[in-house]
Amino acid sequence: MVQQLLQDSIRASGSISLERYMALCNTHYYNTRDPLGRGGDFITAPEVSQMFGELLGIWVADLWMKMGEPAPFTLLECGPGRGTLMADLLRATRMVPGFHQALEITLLETSAALRALQKQAIQHDKVNWVAALDDLHAGGDPLICIGNEFLDALPIRQFKFTGGTWHERHVIYNDPAYLLVDVPQAEALTDLPATPEEGDIVERSPAIDGFLRELGKLIALRGGAALFIDYGYATTAYGDTLQALKEHAYHNPLHTPGEADLTAHVNFERVGDVMKDSGLTVLPAITQGTFLQFLGLRHRADKLKSSANAQQKQDIDLAVQRLAAPEQMGTLFKVIAATSSPTLQPAGFL
Ligand code: SAH
Repeated sequence: MVQQLLQDSIRASGSISLERYMALCNTHYYNTRDPLGRGGDFITAPEVSQMFGELLGIWVADLWMKMGEPAPFTLLECGPGRGTLMADLLRATRMVPGFHQALEITLLETSAALRALQKQAIQHDKVNWVAALDDLHAGGDPLICIGNEFLDALPIRQFKFTGGTWHERHVIYNDPAYLLVDVPQAEALTDLPATPEEGDIVERSPAIDGFLRELGKLIALRGGAALFIDYGYATTAYGDTLQALKEHAYHNPLHTPGEADLTAHVNFERVGDVMKDSGLTVLPAITQGTFLQFLGLRHRADKLKSSANAQQKQDIDLAVQRLAAPEQMGTLFKVIAATSSPTLQPAGFL
């Protein structure tokens, strides 16, 4: 089905941009499966350990208190996957007075398969699903938004400097294979990290920019904050970061389109700039390891271990390593936050 769509689109205009290829592939991919966990293609932090969602719960509850405990308020999660993060967050915040009564959950999710899993996992009176930010109102209650490994799934454009000029990477179909081609690019590229050299690749994501601009506007109007966690780089740089994962192994992004998870590293400098331009105060990106340790990862792990058997204790230690050790997710994954007011200081950021 997705192959037909790709080949028809390519036939109609000779080629399609990598951005369109990634969008078509991922829409099909997420709509038709649960990609997470051992039987899937990749594992995310909330699936590694309950501690991740619990600590994010503490972060959200702390922020809500600093905002003056607005009731009601909306907690928006972008791309909630199996709903694990939200379920852990709800459990960890059960004892915060007034928090659950004030909480209205909105889940931004396009995948029918994953919406069904979220419905089962998330036990709360007020949960609603939206497919796009347009469904949220500018005049609504305060809004706190979280998203783990959401931005990396949004499509990117890639530009390559070759023969002294910029080209955009497109995809063609040469039966039976999909191939990359470089199409000359008319518009000049701005905000480059350095003078380009032959072969340099720079990535841009109009999808991420557009999404953050819209979200930034909503948060600026309604009051609140956003927190995004993803793998990526802190400052704009050259490089090809498009990757595909299938059954927990790297895969060629042009093989089996729509059957592997396509992602790109997130440019956190750009994320910060766009949210700043939307009127928010941005807390520059820090590493996931630093963020989780600040929120009390070690303390939470010790608490869980105090009532665990030997095997469980070992699993908890492994999870701490996996989430926070520099050679695992601790450094590559970064966390960025933005708030509607410079006086609102979210936990974990300096
Ligand atoms: N946050 C989860 C899942 C990450 S996978 C976790 O950490 O485990 C990416 C998630 O984003 C999936 O739920 C996927 O269906 C959703 N998603 C991908 N593209 C989307 C889009 N354009 N709009 C809304 N949701 C999207």
